[in-house]
Amino acid sequence: MSVIKVMSENLANKIAAGEVVEKCASVVKELVENSIDAKAQSIKINLLKGGLEEITVIDDGTGMDESDAILAFQRHATSKIYKDDDLFFIDTLGFRGEALPSIASVSEVVLETCQKDVGTLIHIKGGMLIEKSNSSARIGTRITITNLFFNTPARLKYLKSEQTELANTVSFIEKLSLAKPDISFTLTNNGSVIVKTSGSGNLIKTIHEIYGLQVSSKMLEIKALNDDFEIKGFICKPEILKASRNHLITFINGRVVKNNDINRAINDAYYTYKPDGKYPIVVINIETDPTLVDVNIHPTKQDVKLSKIDSLYNLIYETMKRRLYDSLLIPDAISKKDIDKIKDSFAPVENYKEVEIKQTTFDFGENNSSEVVKNEEFKSLVLYPIGLAHGTYIICENDEGLYLLDQHAAQERVNYEKYLENLKNEAVNITSMLVPINIEFSQSEYITFVKNSNIFENMGFEWVEFGINTVSVKAHPTWLKTGYEEESIRKIIDLIITMNNDFDVIKFRENVAITLACKMAIKANEHISMMEIEGLLKNLVKCDNPYNCPHGRPTIIKFSIYDLEKMFKRAMN
Ligand code: ZN
Ligand code: ZN
Repeated sequence: MSVIKVMSENLANKIAAGEVVEKCASVVKELVENSIDAKAQSIKINLLKGGLEEITVIDDGTGMDESDAILAFQRHATSKIYKDDDLFFIDTLGFRGEALPSIASVSEVVLETCQKDVGTLIHIKGGMLIEKSNSSARIGTRITITNLFFNTPARLKYLKSEQTELANTVSFIEKLSLAKPDISFTLTNNGSVIVKTSGSGNLIKTIHEIYGLQVSSKMLEIKALNDDFEIKGFICKPEILKASRNHLITFINGRVVKNNDINRAINDAYYTYKPDGKYPIVVINIETDPTLVDVNIHPTKQDVKLSKIDSLYNLIYETMKRRLYDSLLIPDAISKKDIDKIKDSFAPVENYKEVEIKQTTFDFGENNSSEVVKNEEFKSLVLYPIGLAHGTYIICENDEGLYLLDQHAAQERVNYEKYLENLKNEAVNITSMLVPINIEFSQSEYITFVKNSNIFENMGFEWVEFGINTVSVKAHPTWLKTGYEEESIRKIIDLIITMNNDFDVIKFRENVAITLACKMAIKANEHISMMEIEGLLKNLVKCDNPYNCPHGRPTIIKFSIYDLEKMFKRAMN
């Protein structure tokens, strides 16, 4: 009877397929999630031509008996659906139990599955049962999809190139591996391994398996909770940024999700630690009461809406910001990989193995505990200036190695924090000018300025109208840099005029601080005396974030003694 039902529902399945299956990755997604439901510890995904030719998923899960196997190809196979009282876990491809019959209606499927002694093989093409027989007794499930969309040419047209289809699947499997570090995933295409994780249950090890040592050695662990949410995971040091948001990887209760507010919290936490348009690698799991998650969003999308989003925003923002603040973030000038490259280029071939061993013995057990170096240590860090290179880079040394600082970026950071502090301070000291500064505007600028002049006054400026479209400034806050009063005042008025209607005091202060910081900082190729260098270093180490200029560029990089010894072949490993 079941079989008849499968066939009678074929049309409905074909229609549903259009809803839930749009690319090879959606097929992989459904199959792999079924494997996870079956409690698989190891899941292999083998693709031919990125899945366009063939998709095979092999798991070591519980498998199915014959009747379950038939039921799996029926619409509303509800036995699978409500087994978990948490609706949120009924994942992604709509109601579980609909996707598999849908896939089977638009492709050719061979399912081999075994729960105990006798396995079952089911072969379906275009929704029609072709074969049902006993099969091998390997516990688990193996399912192969070929000829995807063979009977729906309109859909077939929408499949992309091998590379695009593959890229989508790789990205999905990478994220899923990070969400499920206790499951081993292997993804191959045309026989070559693309993704392989060990299923160790150790997230930093999984990050290493996905991203490699250069990333995994630069991750900082985070952990925090409030009344509604618990977050756990890793965030990268600002020295390894990506050009896309793709690596902001977030899970809610172990499920990959996308949420703009979460991304905004991450981005805001990295404010001034990175340039705009660059994004960190972040892997965090958010545990929460499932009732706070809105599932009424299209099932194929990863977007979710959350109640109490402000509470989550604050938790993520504060935790990450604090973690960055507490960490020593001076980037090594030479990455470990580069050192090995340098080494390889000289070393005899036998040494190659040694390099490999060193990479794989990266210690995951410690969870980067050596990285929990407090920023306070930076504040006690003593740098002895040696000189200046190219009129721009301050050279310093200490017991640990050699440092290069960008004189402009470093001073910009010092200025920025100083200006911001002054701008936030309500009690302003005011300096009256002997000679007022007169500034002339265009008609429209003048109107905008007068309309917003309270902002100017609140900052501690005193002014009067002075002839047509001209403002005469008679007093300014004392913190303006001496000798640069007029330039600073013009910049500030410019910012007031540009912000005009969408004035936001926090953004305004940021803009003023960044603009003045840059303007007042020593330029590249501008002479700086040894005494000024010493003063700058002293002020820099006192900063909240001494590592980046307010635009997110680095202020300081380090060549450790070890790096130097390696480069000069003094150290052999
Ligand atoms: Zn600048
Ligand atoms: Zn800058």
